[in-house]
Amino acid sequence: MTDRKKELAGGLATVEERISAACAAAGRKREEVTLIVVTKTYPASDVRLLHELGVRNVAENRDQDAAPKAAACSDLDLTWHFVGQLQTNKVRSVAGYADVVQSVDRLKLVSLLSAAAIRAERELGCLIQVALDAESGERGERGGVAPDGIGELATAVAEAPGLRLDGLMTVAPLAGPYAGRQQAAFERLMEFSSSLRAGHPAANMVSAGMSADLEQAVAAGATHVRVGTAVLGDRPRLG
Ligand SMILES: *Cc1c(COP(=O)(O)O)cnc(C)c1O
Repeated sequence: MTDRKKELAGGLATVEERISAACAAAGRKREEVTLIVVTKTYPASDVRLLHELGVRNVAENRDQDAAPKAAACSDLDLTWHFVGQLQTNKVRSVAGYADVVQSVDRLKLVSLLSAAAIRAERELGCLIQVALDAESGERGERGGVAPDGIGELATAVAEAPGLRLDGLMTVAPLAGPYAGRQQAAFERLMEFSSSLRAGHPAANMVSAGMSADLEQAVAAGATHVRVGTAVLGDRPRLG
């Protein structure tokens, strides 16, 4: 193994232990939680090594970086998640390689993603990104719709050709009533997920938890955790 592959294998093993321990502590089966490795700022060669090490879900947050990386890895059986704030002028590009867009937070994106999916002859999975600290009608600082906007967006995604409503995503708020209370934040997201599933039973993905708070996400019931630095190492400041 190359040094980099050993490093990545070590990071993966540590994260795997943390997820397993969190599942055991919560009385959940390990298979209930999917690890998505966030490869933003790292090169396509790392994605390739991660694939050799068994990773099948990767995430990116900037189309400028993600598009060439996905193209360089198009021979690999990977599921690509887009987790960044999505600008309307990037939708068509993202729809060309993303399998799941986790950051759907406004109606305008739904119509554009639908048109782009049809054009690309692809089906796009969509998660509604929820900003737990956003006031009604506003969006979160790091993207996301206010909780009272989930229903309207979910209906729009469910009815949009080319799109598939997969569930909910959140990033733990840094400010507001949930600051420093990740588990409470993720439990709140689970409540919104239960309401969503009442009307959309197949929309059962709950994407929450990152390197710093994956244990709290697993404890709350998350089905997907998005982990970057704990696998790949500290990123340069930007990104
Ligand atoms: C970068 C990022 C992650 C991963 O964060 P780490 O702290 O590196 O694990 C997860 N989710 C989103 C939306 C991100 O942008």
